[in-house]
Amino acid sequence: MISPRPHEDRDPRMTEGLSSLARPLVLVVEDEAALATMLRYNLEKQGYRVSEASDGQEALTRIAEAPPDLVLLDWMLPTLSGIEVCRQIRRRPNTRDLPVIMVTARTEDQDAVRALNTGADDYITKPFNMDSLLARIRALLRRASTVPTKGRLAFHDITMDLAAHRVQRDGKPVHLGPTEFRLLEFFMQHPGRVFSREELLDAVWGPDIHVEPRTVDVHIRRLRKSINGEGELLDVIRTVRAAGYALDTEAL
Ligand code: CA
Repeated sequence: MISPRPHEDRDPRMTEGLSSLARPLVLVVEDEAALATMLRYNLEKQGYRVSEASDGQEALTRIAEAPPDLVLLDWMLPTLSGIEVCRQIRRRPNTRDLPVIMVTARTEDQDAVRALNTGADDYITKPFNMDSLLARIRALLRRASTVPTKGRLAFHDITMDLAAHRVQRDGKPVHLGPTEFRLLEFFMQHPGRVFSREELLDAVWGPDIHVEPRTVDVHIRRLRKSINGEGELLDVIRTVRAAGYALDTEAL
């Protein structure tokens, strides 16, 4: 597919044969020089462009100078931690939707959940397998650049404008990360139907990606938090014990 705005619509599945500007730019934020070099080598081999930052403050500067398509963000960094960098990325309107993969040397479960709750779209634990990391990067870029299915979806007081990538609830804008947007889009295409965590992983993350079913719970929590406002709106997502989740009027 040829985009009328070739420099804005980047499709990671079509990196071959495109000009260098059409190749996705990955910002590697990593203070271990050897690891940064290894990441750059492997990413460039896959056709990505790479920029680097070796501390948290520099990461924010790089993002402001040349907005990347995805950030690979180490947790433990000088000046500002990865968690703080991620928070600031999510707080700023122009980087709110920027895909972020958190890289952590910490293996405790609550750290992974904390990374996701801060706004990271995915996380990977050091030492990681390069093929697995590349698969996650591909999957996340695909989610972030999904060609809109056209048109609008509506459910109760929620509307999704797929082309403009906008969500409103009760007339007010709702800001969702790429994963939460895809989740809500999928639910709104099948209102009332209960989906297991595995079905949601297949539909939203893709069948070739291996993440723990618990990850779905974290993104559902983030989606709920975003669409339910400060608690003044009713929860439209029903948790079905031992089965999964549904977008459901019964929850209203
Ligand atoms: Ca580090």
